[in-house]
Amino acid sequence: MDAEELKGNFTRRYLLAILLIAFFSTIAFFILHSALKFNNSAELVINISGKQQILSQRIASQSQQFYRDILDKKARKYENVSESALYDSVREMGDANERLSSGKLNNENTIELSKEVHALYFGDRHLKNKVDAYLVLGDRLLHARTKQEAKIILDELLYTSGKLLPDLEVVVVQYQHERDEYLLILYNFGLIVWLLTLFMLLFEVIFIFQPMANKIRELFQKVVWNRQNLLQEIDIRTFNLQQANEKLAHLASHDPLTGLKNRLNLEEELESLINHYKIHHLPYAVVMLDIDWFKKINDTYGHDAGDFVLCELAKIFSENVRSQDSVYRAGGEEFVIIFNRITKDKVLDKCEKIRQKIQEHSFSYNENSFNVTISSGVYHTDIVEVETIQEGLKLADNALYEAKRTGRNKVVLAHEDSMLLN
Ligand code: GH3
Ligand code: MG
Ligand code: MG
Repeated sequence: MDAEELKGNFTRRYLLAILLIAFFSTIAFFILHSALKFNNSAELVINISGKQQILSQRIASQSQQFYRDILDKKARKYENVSESALYDSVREMGDANERLSSGKLNNENTIELSKEVHALYFGDRHLKNKVDAYLVLGDRLLHARTKQEAKIILDELLYTSGKLLPDLEVVVVQYQHERDEYLLILYNFGLIVWLLTLFMLLFEVIFIFQPMANKIRELFQKVVWNRQNLLQEIDIRTFNLQQANEKLAHLASHDPLTGLKNRLNLEEELESLINHYKIHHLPYAVVMLDIDWFKKINDTYGHDAGDFVLCELAKIFSENVRSQDSVYRAGGEEFVIIFNRITKDKVLDKCEKIRQKIQEHSFSYNENSFNVTISSGVYHTDIVEVETIQEGLKLADNALYEAKRTGRNKVVLAHEDSMLLN
């Protein structure tokens, strides 16, 4: 999974989680909003219907007062206080009746009449008509021309009032009941939304956030693992490179046929020895060795036999020098031995022993046995101090040439004058 894919994946998960939260909080908001709105309307309708009850009783008592005032003739008809109070109450109750039976409570609040309330007003109980008829009686009382007429209307009004009261009570109870029922539904609905919200949060934790955290952990582990792999790979490559370098260095400084150090090594080591001698004056010797009549061996027994002889000689040389000495294949069938910290006599003795050993050694190759001899030229620091490698090698080479010239199979010590020779 690449970075863009990961970003897309996380964004989708977050978006889903946020949308779910937004969805449930919106529902919760609307429930609260409609509960508050409904509660306002319900309170209003209960107030109005309760007030209607009070008004019906007030009209009854005001009608009695009005009638008593007529009888007493306390005041002139149009200045009668009880008359205007009765008039106001009749209008007010008419208004309340209109509002309750239509559901239009005021400019802001309107309610839908339930089936039950509708049946109360317009069904068998005919509450709308009953209230209207009651109010008509109030109006008629106000316009009664005689005391007898007023008395008849008052009696009918009081009788009607007694019968109207239980009906009005039924409306109040019905409205209260409906409000409680609706609020219970809202409460239950709110409870369900709350539980759903909790469930949804749990769902988000299990199916959105936890997998997301697992994915991050997995990716992090992958990064750590990749890094470790990379470091391991670097270690392996470094190791291989070191080995290749060592091999290369060995190849560059060793002869592949005999395994001896080559001329490159010889020159480096001889130079450091010459420099070392300048300071410490520790004696050393450079011996150059060449196989006698080697060409004949190649010609007689073959080139492979010649190679075999080279290897055997390398072995004999190595086995007969000390740990501080070094044997080199200087090129072709020429070898060089550097003897470190050695006296002139000792090196001559060593070289003589090696010469003898080779002379006595029987070389067996492909069922052929033959002997080989070597000639050696020895330079020792007691003869003269050399300044360069070339000088040292030249002295040994001249001594070797002398050995060849004077019969081969011998060890010849270099002498100072030979430096001048070519
Ligand atoms: P001399 O006693 O004067 O040294 O005689 P020589 O025959 O040893 O000398 P020469 O220089 O004439 O011949 C050296 C020969 O060594 C020539 C060459 O074919 C042979 N040679 C040089 N390097 C190798 C090698 O790596 N393997 C084999 N088999 N022969 C080699
Ligand atoms: Mg030679
Ligand atoms: Mg030779």
